[in-house]
Amino acid sequence: MNIDLRSDTVTVPTSGMREAMHFAAVGDDVYKEDETVNLLEHRIAELFGKKRALFFPSGTMANQAAIKLHTRPGEALICDKFGHVHNYEGGGIAFNSGVTTTLIDGHQGMFTAAQAEAAIHPPDFYHSPKTSLITVENTTNKGGGSCWDVDELMAIRKVCNQYHLGYHLDGARLWNAIVATGENAMTFGNIFDTISVCLSKGLGCPVGSVLVGDDTIMEDAIRVRKVLGGGMRQVGILAAAGLYALDHHVERLAQDHQKAKEIEGVLSSRSFVKNIVPVQTNIVIFEVNPDVNANNLIGQLENSNIRISGMGQGKLRIVTHLDYTDEKHDIVLSTLKTVQPQ
Ligand SMILES: *Cc1c(COP(=O)(O)O)cnc(C)c1O
Repeated sequence: MNIDLRSDTVTVPTSGMREAMHFAAVGDDVYKEDETVNLLEHRIAELFGKKRALFFPSGTMANQAAIKLHTRPGEALICDKFGHVHNYEGGGIAFNSGVTTTLIDGHQGMFTAAQAEAAIHPPDFYHSPKTSLITVENTTNKGGGSCWDVDELMAIRKVCNQYHLGYHLDGARLWNAIVATGENAMTFGNIFDTISVCLSKGLGCPVGSVLVGDDTIMEDAIRVRKVLGGGMRQVGILAAAGLYALDHHVERLAQDHQKAKEIEGVLSSRSFVKNIVPVQTNIVIFEVNPDVNANNLIGQLENSNIRISGMGQGKLRIVTHLDYTDEKHDIVLSTLKTVQPQ
């Protein structure tokens, strides 16, 4: 049995999801005539209390479109040093928008309103790029699946209002944060100008992200998506997977979180583990002692058909997901209890 814990993107559509895709009503979405896409967009917009939503082929494209909508070339955006938009979107901030980043040295991918305010270039200091956007990530990917405190997000909203900045949430794993904290989607909709959510991570769809926002900021979104090559045709086949996932795969995320917690429990009892980022959702990031080779651990686990990710500098990542069954979980726990990396 193959056990892949490198990411929550490795899932394959369930038979129920495939059936929903098979029977989806479709049309040409470039003409906005795909009723299943329209339904998904409408449903997600309502969930967040926003006027508009737009389906994208990837989270990267949804984030990059949002950055384009909030900025002009030569400006700067603020994000954490771990931010996906900065580290893992191929330099798209510069490539697509001609924008630079001001990085915050935060904690587990999160920062305070005071840190955000300190990172804003003074608006009248024309030597610096003009700061026009703050982006945050919830849950944080490189920050170990941590969930933001909503009060801090609201405090940053106030900073954005004071300095007339846009405020974007990279919510690739916002579903995990919603389930883990019991917060309402509407709460996030009220705080942010734009939010991207992913359907192909925890929710188990093959493809898809959705960007939500109100009329003004979203006015040009469909044009930006077209420019980026994201206008697709009978894409209701994919939107149907998203609708199915909203009905069947959100609440069950709690099971992924429970399994990650149990993995943390076993790792914390092993002497080769130096530290673990406190587990809140479905990501376990841990560091091995300096005398232990992380690649050796990866190799030993691979010999037991368990795949995890190396992050460099002795750090490793495990991500639980829809296809990680109880049976697989038992194997992983017992393997982690006995493995002896060198
Ligand atoms: C995966 C991820 C994305 C991008 O999603 P893709 O669909 O892989 O392009 C964006 N932000 C975060 C935090 C992610 O984890």
